[in-house]
Formats: sequence, structure tokens, C-alpha cells
Amino acid sequence: MQVKNLFRSLAIAFLALLAILTIIGILRRDRGGWTQYERGLIHRSDSLMNVTLMPKDSAILRSKAAELTPRMLRSRETKELVAKMLYTVRHPSQDGVGIAAPQVGISRRIICIQRFDLPGEPFVAFLNPQIDSLFGEVLPGPEGCLSVPGKRGIVRRNRSLILSYVDGETLDAHRDTIEGFTAVIVQHECDHLDGVLYTDRADSLWTVSD
Ligand code: ZN
Repeated sequence: MQVKNLFRSLAIAFLALLAILTIIGILRRDRGGWTQYERGLIHRSDSLMNVTLMPKDSAILRSKAAELTPRMLRSRETKELVAKMLYTVRHPSQDGVGIAAPQVGISRRIICIQRFDLPGEPFVAFLNPQIDSLFGEVLPGPEGCLSVPGKRGIVRRNRSLILSYVDGETLDAHRDTIEGFTAVIVQHECDHLDGVLYTDRADSLWTVSD
């Protein structure tokens, strides 16, 4: 009889432990919505992140990136990723005017761009950016991409657009009209979030020595 009770107690203790571990597992998976892989990449990366390159990283560069949930927008992972993306795009080794999260290995809807349409031409981060409308002149212009080194091309794009986004610094939602070269950068970077590269849209492409 006592042995039976002992087994029953052990079975109950085992089931309770299993339940606790399952709950911990669920809570950990749901911590901000980031996957364990993404959190590892964000926290372990140096400030200068590795830039994904075609064709070896085509799996991520050709994927549609996922939206950040409200909880993810407020997470320390987003803050750290934005800081590292801004550092990377501005670094002399890259010297870019824009970068999208898939270009640092994270398939989420974040872009960092230089706003040539604002005084001081600051770099800013847009979270969950969405182009609501494109208008204005469609003009050809030269483009390059950090993920496609050694190439340039001519792409025709609208020079005005309306963009909805969450500001990467204040986390406030905005809807702005953006014009000129900055509108071109926004279109190039938003394309990255849908797995589209400027080389898909270019009228002509040529090789350069980067
Ligand atoms: Zn690019």
C-alpha cells in the first residue's frame, strides 16, 4: 500500500514538474515574439552587423519579412537591432544611405534610411513601414545595394510617396509625405521587406569595383 502511494506521489510530482516546464517553455517562446535564433543574432552581433549578400543569402533576401507585433515594437531586441542597423549602414565599410532588416539576417519589417529631405540629413528607423501611395514624377536614377556588391543599375521610381510607419526612436505612429531622393531610398528599402531587389526593376545594370 505504501509503495503504491509513493508511486502515486512521484507520478503527481512528475506531472507537476512537466506542467511547470511546459509553462516556462511557452513563456520563453513568447518573450517579445522574437524567435530564439533572432534574439541570439541580435544580442551576439557586434555593432557592425554582417550584411547578407546575394546569391549566398538569397533565402532570406528573397523572403517576405514579418510585421513586428506591438509587444515586439517595445522590446529591447528592437531597440538593440535598430541601433546596430544604424551603426552598420553608417559605417565607413558600408557607407550606405539605407538598410533593411533582412540585410542583417532578420526577416522583420524594419528599415533604416538617411532622410535627405530633413535638415541635417539624419539617419532614422522606420518600423512596420507601409507605402500608402506613390505619386509625382517617375524618373530614372542610379541605384546600388549593400547586398549586391559590385553592381549599379538604373531604376525608374516615383519621386513622392505617403508612408505610414512607427518611429524607431519614439515608437509613435506617423503618416508622412516623403519626396525626392529620400522617396527613392524608402521604395528600395521597402522592396527588401518583400524580397524584391533593385536588380529586378533595373532598366540596365553594370559592374563597378566597390
Ligand atoms: Zn538594397
